Amino acid sequence: MNDSAEKVWANCLSLIRDNVPLQSFKTWFEPIKPVKLEGKVLTIQVPSVFFYEWLEEHYVTLLKKALKKELGQGGKLEYNIIVDASAKGTMNLPAQGSGTEDDLEILVPGNVGVNIKNPFIIPGLKRITIDAQLNAVLIFENFIEGDCNRLARAAGVAVGANPGKTSFNPLFIHGGVGLGKTHLAQAIGNQIRAFHKQKVVLYVTSEKFTNQFAEASRNETITDFVNFYQCIDVLLVDDVQFFSGKTKTQDVFFHIFNHLHQNGKQLVLTSDRAPKDIPDVDERLISRFKWGLSADLQVPDYETRIAILEQKMYRDGITMPRELVEYIAYNIQGSVRELEGALVSLIARSTLTRHSLDINLAKEVIRHFVQSANKVVSIEQIQKFIGEAMAVEVEMLTSKTRKRNIVLARQIAMFFSKQLTKNSLATIGRAFGGRDHSTVIHACQTISDLMETDGKFKSKMHDLEKMLNINFT
Ligand code: ADP
Ligand code: MG
Repeated sequence: MNDSAEKVWANCLSLIRDNVPLQSFKTWFEPIKPVKLEGKVLTIQVPSVFFYEWLEEHYVTLLKKALKKELGQGGKLEYNIIVDASAKGTMNLPAQGSGTEDDLEILVPGNVGVNIKNPFIIPGLKRITIDAQLNAVLIFENFIEGDCNRLARAAGVAVGANPGKTSFNPLFIHGGVGLGKTHLAQAIGNQIRAFHKQKVVLYVTSEKFTNQFAEASRNETITDFVNFYQCIDVLLVDDVQFFSGKTKTQDVFFHIFNHLHQNGKQLVLTSDRAPKDIPDVDERLISRFKWGLSADLQVPDYETRIAILEQKMYRDGITMPRELVEYIAYNIQGSVRELEGALVSLIARSTLTRHSLDINLAKEVIRHFVQSANKVVSIEQIQKFIGEAMAVEVEMLTSKTRKRNIVLARQIAMFFSKQLTKNSLATIGRAFGGRDHSTVIHACQTISDLMETDGKFKSKMHDLEKMLNINFT
């Protein structure tokens, strides 16, 4: 440790202390360590990227003032950020007083014109802007680490720090619903956006990718579509299990994947299951999914559940007795999403009924929550419901009839069976009069296409889904 760095920082602190509330001082300034002083550059170490961003956003003026007073004109501050506490990694960043940064501007090779067709592109004269489709809230700092996610999180941090330069390419994150796949993928994107500003980052769901590709096919703009994706530096594709059964989309994704990978670009993929378990995806694509690192997310253990709840409460400014937090963590043992849902229900109930947050209220809410979470809709229930809603007899749904209205009802029921139950395509097919899985895929695709192209149909489907949820879950 450099003596004069300590001295300079101590003097800065005394000025800062007089200018911020005590609590803020304790939170944001006490954890900072002076590292070195070289000429007029003072380096301080902060515990995380989040910390750095917070300082830059809220205290940069004060910091600059203090520094100028101590070091005179030309005094500079540099941050040394602990990137990953376990790996003892750090990175250095200059202070800049960052404001909100504009969307990255890039030049796309090829024929860029005003008529380029891509929903992410806002056309301009020559330059175009890509919106990375990132949610700024989903960052590493609030992704609680536990045994359930250690490998995936650490790999994500590594990729975030060095996109395209680790052997985790692609990074394939898999795990059940609500366990944090999207959060992690987004956190990687946000991290890269913050520290590799020149990189073009894009987050896309497989569903959106599929729809964009279908539209590009219709409009004969596949070349534009492919060119667009090939100029991305960091491509985050969420829920790739959705590519199942979509051969043409798989083909085009395969080419984009190869191009990016060969050029040292980073790919991050998520899926609700391991690569080998994704049905109806071409083997050559599956094998690429396995090239880098596959890391899974498990259901969080009790301690991690507590930590997640506490963090969420802290962020939302909620306080409640420890025994309540423990009660929720003990009773909600499923996904993080359920955990958050239980907390929100409890807060909502207490606010609406003006009932204080106590164990009795918690018991009531949780009992209700656990019951409804365990209630799962079955294929039979869906058939019965859709049959009634569309005035088609249930036997017709499982019959061989090819009458138009019956085929449609059957396809809708298959679609919901795929969406709302955990059954495999084969099981669903069997439940509809012994049809095979490709019939179910075809049905799902037909319904998706209809929803894409027909607004009325789409809203009718939403109504049906709402009714199904109310009646059965
Ligand atoms: P998935 O994509 O796997 O279905 P999400 O990423 O959408 O799950 O996560 C569901 C919710 O749980 C989100 O609100 C997310 O922020 C939260 N969450 C998941 N894992 C964690 C974690 N380890 N720490 C904090 N919040 C988490
Ligand atoms: Mg998700």
